[in-house]
Amino acid sequence: MTANNLSRFWEWGRKIVCVGRNYADHVKEMGSLVPSGEPLLFLKPPSAYVREGSPLIFPPYSQNLHHEVELGVVLAKGGSDIPQAAAMDWVGGYALCLDMTARDIQEECQRKGHPWTLAKAFDGSCPVSDFIPKERVPDPRRLTLWLKVNGQLRQQGHTSQMIFPIPFLIHYISGVMKLEEGDLILTGTPAGVSAVQVGDELQAGIDDLLSMKFTVQRGPASAAH
Ligand code: MG
Repeated sequence: MTANNLSRFWEWGRKIVCVGRNYADHVKEMGSLVPSGEPLLFLKPPSAYVREGSPLIFPPYSQNLHHEVELGVVLAKGGSDIPQAAAMDWVGGYALCLDMTARDIQEECQRKGHPWTLAKAFDGSCPVSDFIPKERVPDPRRLTLWLKVNGQLRQQGHTSQMIFPIPFLIHYISGVMKLEEGDLILTGTPAGVSAVQVGDELQAGIDDLLSMKFTVQRGPASAAH
C-alpha cells in the first residue's frame, strides 16, 4: 500500500489529463465536430491546481477567459493498457474541477495549428474541489454538474451525456501514457461555457454532494500559488 494521501491528490499527483469535446451539446455550441472514434486529449501541469481560498487567475495575455465545469476522476493506482471492463477498479474517487480556458488564445492556437498549452495549461487553470471518495458516488454516470457566475446559473449538465464514458477514457488514455496514482482525468464540459470578468464570483457544484467558490482576479499566473 501507499503512503500517499489520495484525499490531497493535488499536492502530489503528477499529471492532469483532460478530455475535450466530450459532451455533444458543448461541441455544438463551439461549432466543432463531434469526435468520431477517439477522444481529444490535452494536458495541464500540476501547477494548474488551485484550491478554494486562492484567487482564480485571469491570465494577463488573454481578454476572454471561459469557465468549463467538469467531473474529475482521481486514479487510485497506476497502470498501462488498463482494460475497459476493469477500469473502475483504478478509480479512487472524484473531484469537481474547472478547466479554465483562455478562449481567445485557444482560437488563435487553432488558427495557427498550435497546441492549446497557452490557452489551457497556465498556472491556476485547474481549480479543484475537495476529494470525493469513490464510495460516496455509487454511479458516476448519474451526477449533475452546475456552475453559477454571480449567482446566475450558466452550466448545468448530466454526466450521463458524456460521449466517451469514464471506463473507456481510462482504457484509452492508459494506452497512450502510463496512468499513475494521484493522476486526475478531466472528463469534459457540458454546454453553457461563457466568459468571466475580473471580480466575478464563480460557484460550482456536483448535485448537493459539494460546491466550491472562486473569485476572478487579474494577475500573473504565479499569483495562483
Ligand atoms: Mg474542458
